[in-house]
Amino acid sequence: MSYINENFLELQDSYLFSTIAKKVAKFTEENPDKKIIKLGIGDVTKPIVPACLEAMHKAVNEIGTAEGFKGYGPEQGYDFLRKAIVENDYKQRGIEIEEDEIFVSDGAKCDCGNIVDIFAKDNKVAITDPVYPVYLDTNIMSGREITYLPVTAENNFKPELPKEKVDMIYLCFPNNPTGTVLEKEELKKWVDYARENKSIILYDSAYEAFITEENIPHSIYEIEGAKEVAIEFKSYSKTAGFTGVRCAYVVIPKQLKGYTKAGKEVSLNQLWNRRTCTKFNGVSYIVQRAAEATYSPEGKKQIEENIKFYLENAKIIKQGLEEAGFTVYGGVNSPYIWLKVPEGMTSWEFFDRLLEEVNIVGTPGSGFGPHGEGYFRLTAFGTKENSIEAMNRIKRTNIR
Ligand code: PLP
Repeated sequence: MSYINENFLELQDSYLFSTIAKKVAKFTEENPDKKIIKLGIGDVTKPIVPACLEAMHKAVNEIGTAEGFKGYGPEQGYDFLRKAIVENDYKQRGIEIEEDEIFVSDGAKCDCGNIVDIFAKDNKVAITDPVYPVYLDTNIMSGREITYLPVTAENNFKPELPKEKVDMIYLCFPNNPTGTVLEKEELKKWVDYARENKSIILYDSAYEAFITEENIPHSIYEIEGAKEVAIEFKSYSKTAGFTGVRCAYVVIPKQLKGYTKAGKEVSLNQLWNRRTCTKFNGVSYIVQRAAEATYSPEGKKQIEENIKFYLENAKIIKQGLEEAGFTVYGGVNSPYIWLKVPEGMTSWEFFDRLLEEVNIVGTPGSGFGPHGEGYFRLTAFGTKENSIEAMNRIKRTNIR
């Protein structure tokens, strides 16, 4: 008999996106003449930029030659990419990170999910609510005790330090789904807490490229002492449009320590390296060359233009909603706009009215956790025309 990991039975079924898809399909069938605008998309829509495409084509040709063929590469990533990361994402911001502290991977989702492998089951975990579901579900799968940190308008979307001691803390800024950010002083409180309590911060920085305001850290390592307590996750998905290409990386500084039950210090970098070499055979050479090209002058310029385009949509949506009388958060340092649904309505009731009355699709906040109830997420990943049209439609309605 094979026994299962019963923690999986504790997972809540995720009906969010399938329920949305079903509702939209039913509405379309009953109203074939209506033009639906989808502002619920979490995926980017701009194609891969030319600099990355060119690098991929070149790499494809290279591996077709006897001299250029690449078999298994280094599990942690090719030196050329780790060097480019260290130089561009860290050194140029005044942060010292070493190449062997970078682990290239096929996505921040996998990294955020897999990292739990190196931590004991009896760590207490703090997770914000609402949240990107991967942190929560992977910790439920491994049977850890979870403390929820509400992030709502009441605390200005700044999670409060937990009253009881926690060992692992998940933070994601700019945040999905709320689109909100933490200033340096706020993030410092978390770094100080982690240093005092010997906790680890798992910092998801997948939307860093969307930061426009001063005083918002682009990396947790901008905070003094963070290298002793933080793991950082970065992704090329939302910056370079790699959601389908798949490339990301995780930073595990060598100072970062975990502890055995007997109190012995162990390097988390070494543990993750061991785990990576055992379970992973590296990201393809072609994809890593494409990731490297995001740091070329042309690549940087092209990506900047894409981000500018999404941020312009975010501005259109944020302003449009405000003009229509909604209270709106996010959308300034993020492609996500988080709005307060009208008093007395649930997130799903708002979803239904938006779909039926103005044919717009978004995502109910309650789908991201109980404290998302009463909120609604729109994204800037659509077209400019649709973003404008959607706001005109909302202004014409009486959904308030
Ligand atoms: N982290 C957050 C907060 C996200 O919203 C997403 C994707 O939506 C990811 C990570 C996944 O990134 P990747 O495509 O690199 O797996």
